[in-house]
Amino acid sequence: MPSDRNNPKRGKASESTYSLMEFMRECPDDAACLDMLWRERYALDGHTAHCPKCARDRRFHRIASRPAYSCDSCGRSLYPLSGTIFHKSSTSLQLWFYAMYLMASTRCGISAKQLERELGVTYKTAWRMFNKIRNQLMADDSGPLRGDVEVDEASVDGKPRKKQGSHSQIAIGPSRRSEAAKLRERSRATVFAAVERGGRIKATVLESRRGPQLKKQVIEWVEPASMIFTDEWPAYNGLNRHFIDHSRINHSAGIYVQGDTHTNTVEGFFGNLKTGIRGNYKKVSHKWLQGYLNEFTWRYNHRNDGRAMFHLLIQRAAQV
Ligand SMILES: [Zn+2]
Repeated sequence: MPSDRNNPKRGKASESTYSLMEFMRECPDDAACLDMLWRERYALDGHTAHCPKCARDRRFHRIASRPAYSCDSCGRSLYPLSGTIFHKSSTSLQLWFYAMYLMASTRCGISAKQLERELGVTYKTAWRMFNKIRNQLMADDSGPLRGDVEVDEASVDGKPRKKQGSHSQIAIGPSRRSEAAKLRERSRATVFAAVERGGRIKATVLESRRGPQLKKQVIEWVEPASMIFTDEWPAYNGLNRHFIDHSRINHSAGIYVQGDTHTNTVEGFFGNLKTGIRGNYKKVSHKWLQGYLNEFTWRYNHRNDGRAMFHLLIQRAAQV
């Protein structure tokens, strides 16, 4: 059977649900990208939108001189870019969309450096785009978790702060080594996560794994009618008073699974997170770790969505 060159079949091995060919066809230029936002934000069919001046649905047309659409009846303009992350940006809309496409379509994410090369923009511009997409379009906006929820915390290697002891790599001798160890300890960040078995995840960077913070965060993230699973870490004491029940696995006694009591789902997430950080960044500074977490959890939470992740980003960008 001859293959259809205009409608190529995706190979089974491909991870992506939306290929570069599809992107090029859907987003050939700025006007096409603007039209996608226009449909997402105001006019599902591309023409009919609610006109605030006429106070009813009207037919609109694209204005050539500005990134706007105008009411056929009264001339009132609507601006699909206003209030979005693309507004007032000197980078073309198609490049923004291409950046979103790249960030959504790779399995483990890409770095700002790769984005710089792919887009042909300066590193500063790439970095700014990268963080806007991560922190605004990929930030968690879903409701509380429910059902069987596993909770755990992990230390993630951060970048040592450069202030004091920045030459610890050439340190020799026990006293210097302990200084290096202290520095390493300070540079480790606590990542805290809660995950529904078979469902969504929430994760954040916390100052410390001690104190009341962990418990407060669980209560904020998880519906009371849920079952909580943690290890024996004392900071989780008393969670049973806030939820249906609280089941704990005694890791320090070498027990990892007891019936349905385990935290394997959330530990699996931490394993992937650390692999991802090692593969992409070597080390992540505390400041950017939350951004990385946003991206990582966003990918996890949308792993089974029918819609291509790229389209989810456009949808989110249009929610102003
Ligand atoms: Zn009107």
